[in-house]
Amino acid sequence: GGHKQREFDYFKLSLQWPGTVCHRTRHCCSSNGCCRGSNAPTGFTIHGLWPDYNDGTWPACCNGKRFDVKEISTLLGALNKFWPSLSCSSPSNCHGGKGLFWEHEWEKHGTCASSVVGDEYKYFLTTLNIYFKYNITEVLREAGYVASNSEKYPLGGIISAIQNAFHTTPELECSGDAVEELRLCFDKNFKPRDCAVDSNTESGIVTSKKSCPRYVSLPDYVS
Ligand code: 5GP
Ligand code: 5GP
Repeated sequence: GGHKQREFDYFKLSLQWPGTVCHRTRHCCSSNGCCRGSNAPTGFTIHGLWPDYNDGTWPACCNGKRFDVKEISTLLGALNKFWPSLSCSSPSNCHGGKGLFWEHEWEKHGTCASSVVGDEYKYFLTTLNIYFKYNITEVLREAGYVASNSEKYPLGGIISAIQNAFHTTPELECSGDAVEELRLCFDKNFKPRDCAVDSNTESGIVTSKKSCPRYVSLPDYVS
């Protein structure tokens, strides 16, 4: 990292489904705190806001800007709630060390978005605002797609609900049949647009290890 990268083309807002991620990280729930009990999130939470190129690649670790948690002190309440880490281990930063999930996301992705979003504080504030404005959990809930450990939902129905609400096609990743990530793309004015490389089809054809089958689940926490 550290060297100047070419300017990116669009944003990808990446969300994670806690019921799926936490299923894998239950064993460390006392250390990450947010996979259980009253802390457990009830809808999609934020993974990150990622700058991307139209050719399907993306820049990473764009300038020497280090993460400073003091810059986002006024956002910590919201970040803990809507952008929690659900993993057991600390991710790497761009400088050969380990740090917070937020540190990883800012250094790897946020630094590459600064031409549009600005500094670290603005990166987190912008991401929260976009997340609140495009409330995927609410759109799915209104269409009847709610957390459940018994229901399976048609992938095409989930995609249609989002297309109808936001006029753009999301990308989905699954772990088995459980939705793990949902990604929504935006142009640099934050108008929704399709992502460049559409890894999903409604056909249910498995093209990668994380692609979703024709019927998917939105698991609730397993206690
Ligand atoms: P995964 O394999 O879980 O989809 O992605 C692993 C990591 O690669 C992500 O956490 C993210 O940092 C990066 N990544 C994966 N897909 C994309 C993408 O479409 N755009 C960007 N900017 N990064 C991605
Ligand atoms: P990315 O996929 O954005 O490149 O990187 C995610 C990194 O952050 C991984 O190293 C992962 O261990 C760490 N991490 C910490 N908390 C979370 C979380 O809640 N979700 C995901 N996907 N990764 C997390």
